[in-house]
Amino acid sequence: MGMKKPEDVVLFKDNKRIDGRKPNEIRPIKIEAGVLYRADGSAYVEWGGNKILAAVYGPREALPKHIQDPRRAIVNARYNMAAFSVEDRKRPGPDRRSIEISKVISEALERVILTEQFPRAAIDVNIEVLDADAGTRCAGLTAAGVALADAGIPMRDIPVACAAGKVEGKVILDLCKEEDNYGEADMPVAIAPLTDEILLLQMDGHLTYDEFEKALDLAIKGCHIVSDMQKKALLKKYEEVLEVE
Ligand code: UDP
Repeated sequence: MGMKKPEDVVLFKDNKRIDGRKPNEIRPIKIEAGVLYRADGSAYVEWGGNKILAAVYGPREALPKHIQDPRRAIVNARYNMAAFSVEDRKRPGPDRRSIEISKVISEALERVILTEQFPRAAIDVNIEVLDADAGTRCAGLTAAGVALADAGIPMRDIPVACAAGKVEGKVILDLCKEEDNYGEADMPVAIAPLTDEILLLQMDGHLTYDEFEKALDLAIKGCHIVSDMQKKALLKKYEEVLEVE
């Protein structure tokens, strides 16, 4: 966001975006549930150029004991980018950005998980970004939603996320890397799709109030498209299990 656009980069022309999409079109998405054997639940998501794994471990006893909450489980999402996931090698380990993303995703997931059912417990959600191409927090949260459902963690709803934003004055759905770099706004949104309750909303850049309303509406529509794919991925896994048995 806010990087100076090179002369030869055209973000929007003839109602088409730099990767050929229409303003309200989402990138191709593939979701697979239950891809890891040892984790309690897992998911793999390809979303445009993003490749992301999510693994759930728990509920387990929260340790050390002083971090326990006697009324509910604590949700620890940890977002991590592999060193090889970005153009210039990323220094391994947590940084300001990944700590922020881990925090906002943890808080979003806490809103849908029935944490009161597991006092003193911890639920770990590991999100590993293997390839990054903008929108990784949305793709990561979406993968986490499927992994939590796959782990059988009781939830009010399966959380899902999608971003909207603005390039060259136009409100668009699901920004790709160039749009993220040179665009005017990027707004990741996560919802509980049964009620459209907002679980996460961030914004980088600027939107007018009208643009904000339009972008929010578009992001929620995007979330519903992705939500259908999450459910299909979960159904597919359990259909396969039934066939084997
Ligand atoms: N990115 C990068 N190096 C970093 C962090 C991010 O190249 O250390 C890239 C990566 O492709 C990421 C994009 O910048 O997806 C946008 O990052 P942002 O912080 O907006 O989060 P995201 O859109 O991935 O949720």
